[in-house]
Amino acid sequence: MTDAIQFERHTETAGFYSPLAGMEFAEDRVEVRIDPLTGMTAVASAGLEAKEEMFLGKTDWAYAEALAARTREGCFFCPEKVLEATPKYPDELVPGGRLERGGALVFPNLFPLAAVHAVVTFPDKHYLRPSDFTPELLVEALGAAFDFAGRAEHFYPRLTHLQVSCNHMLPAGASLAHPHLQVFGGETVPWQVELYWRRSAEWAAAHGASYWDSLVAQEESTGERSIWSADGVHWLAPFAPAGAREVIAVVPGAGLLSELGAPQVAALSHGLSRVLAWYEAEGLSAFNFTAFGGALDGRETGFPVVLRVIARTAFKQDYRTDDYFLQKQLGGELMFAAPEEMAARLRTLLRG
Ligand SMILES: [Zn+2]
Repeated sequence: MTDAIQFERHTETAGFYSPLAGMEFAEDRVEVRIDPLTGMTAVASAGLEAKEEMFLGKTDWAYAEALAARTREGCFFCPEKVLEATPKYPDELVPGGRLERGGALVFPNLFPLAAVHAVVTFPDKHYLRPSDFTPELLVEALGAAFDFAGRAEHFYPRLTHLQVSCNHMLPAGASLAHPHLQVFGGETVPWQVELYWRRSAEWAAAHGASYWDSLVAQEESTGERSIWSADGVHWLAPFAPAGAREVIAVVPGAGLLSELGAPQVAALSHGLSRVLAWYEAEGLSAFNFTAFGGALDGRETGFPVVLRVIARTAFKQDYRTDDYFLQKQLGGELMFAAPEEMAARLRTLLRG
């Protein structure tokens, strides 16, 4: 068992004369968890759960719908404009210049931040609440994104990395209300992706086994943080989450996004749809997710396809950012709810 993943947690105490205790000396207990792969830290404190609303807020749906209505006219992703206002790829990459799958459409980002930077949107859906991302819609969008990813891998021989990501609503960094995903791939590997790959390779070399296989096996044997699995897709709450209400899916059988088959895309879509609906039920509206794959240059990393989804500050007037020095400069995170409690709640939702 020496090769088992160690889930390390430490506690420390903050003591002070507290007005909440009549200026008597009081102590607050803080728990710090360390991600076994990356070393990233996540912090929980007594009462943080009660403060979640102060940090993330509750969505003002009337305000969200007003934004949707205000931005509908002239929207570049809506049906009247999308075909004239968005770029096209060369026919050798995508015949016709834009890839279509069901209601989903893939085209180049007009302001790319990498050699491959595509947008995936539903032109007919100018506004979606998180619970509107049905499994059927996600199968189309993710399917289109992974299909495009496979074409891009062949078309751009120098690509080393490729992810499929989503910023939904303004607090999550979206510049448009119109929902969309992004396919993001280039030659220089983003540092966090590099960290995942390097640590996964180091783990495999040191332990003779895949970190991710071990993670799935360990989490599913203890059951504390495992949520649901189907068709080789394993959903779980990470021990040290890298964002609010983070849930991840691990697909040990797939090394690249382009290798995902229809059953895996369906299991990813089902889980993601239920998690997003849960965010909405909890008053949240903004989120990010990324589906990561392994290295495209043949480098052996032992990193499989992993999808991570996090909630962001709810959309409302005068919303505050959920990233402050802790996240932006120290690289730590907050745990509003224990991952074990989150997993217990999600188990019913994903399995049901
Ligand atoms: Zn639109």
